[in-house]
Amino acid sequence: MTVSPPPTAGAGRYAPSPSGDLHLGNLRTAVLAWVLARRSGRAFRLRVEDLDRVQEGAEARQLEDLAAIGITADGPVVRQSERGAEHEEAIARLAAAGLVYECYCTRREILEAPSAPHAPPGAYPGTCRDLSSAAREAGRARMHRLRREPALRLRAGVRALTVQDMFAGAVTAAVDDLVLRRGDGVVAYNLAVVVDDADAGIDQVVRADDLLTSAPRQAHLAELLGHRPPQYAHVPLAVNPQGARLAKRDGAVTLRDRLARGESAGDVMARIGLSLGLPGCRTAADVLERWDPATLPREPWVVDLPA
Ligand code: GLU
Repeated sequence: MTVSPPPTAGAGRYAPSPSGDLHLGNLRTAVLAWVLARRSGRAFRLRVEDLDRVQEGAEARQLEDLAAIGITADGPVVRQSERGAEHEEAIARLAAAGLVYECYCTRREILEAPSAPHAPPGAYPGTCRDLSSAAREAGRARMHRLRREPALRLRAGVRALTVQDMFAGAVTAAVDDLVLRRGDGVVAYNLAVVVDDADAGIDQVVRADDLLTSAPRQAHLAELLGHRPPQYAHVPLAVNPQGARLAKRDGAVTLRDRLARGESAGDVMARIGLSLGLPGCRTAADVLERWDPATLPREPWVVDLPA
């Protein structure tokens, strides 16, 4: 594993979706992203991924919670919803290169379609990739009846790609004709994340490892847009004692829940520190000082809190 400074100082980031309050797993990921950026001389940015699943007020609360454990951004916080022009410009650039096509499939049709030979389950089978102009007209008419826009997909050109991850090593995953803009007009996460990271000079992506297999398709998209893919570092998810991904239903799992139970932000940081083998941490800066990335446990973090 190497955690050496890049030749030119870039930036790391944390990019939460404002769909609710941050739980301990989210905060741990944020701490690790901040520490790995700082350790390598990078700036650290925060981006609110608010294209989807927005809960009123969650953004402000998340930023407050991050500040409470000692994490603030260099420079302004970027909101994905304010970057529509940049997202559309990227789609237009791909379209000009012949890399975008309209897709008239419904979600159900995609699920029920036989997958292409050698494609992993769930990969888009390419139904609309090479339609005749008559079939496209029929597809558009159908979308019109359904009151939907066609989705826009990337003509990916590769089936799989390998990226290097700081913790997982070589990661190979499928790259299918991913959606760039959805049928409801919303820009797809994979496009937004690539464009926003590149525009912000982000060259280190630290996030939870549920997104590990998305890294190759995002790296491919970055390359098609003329950007150098970032360094990836995917860290384990937090789970409940039953092994399911930590969630609201697991009780008092957010920083705010813990504060309401009389704990302090420092107490919560202490739990995060312990999960990294570091007793006695009170702030993210303590982790920065003491943590050795080579010791990161690779298993999910089992969060078992007093109620
Ligand atoms: N917004 C995503 C999440 O909260 C993270 C996306 C990313 O870091 O690329 O899970």
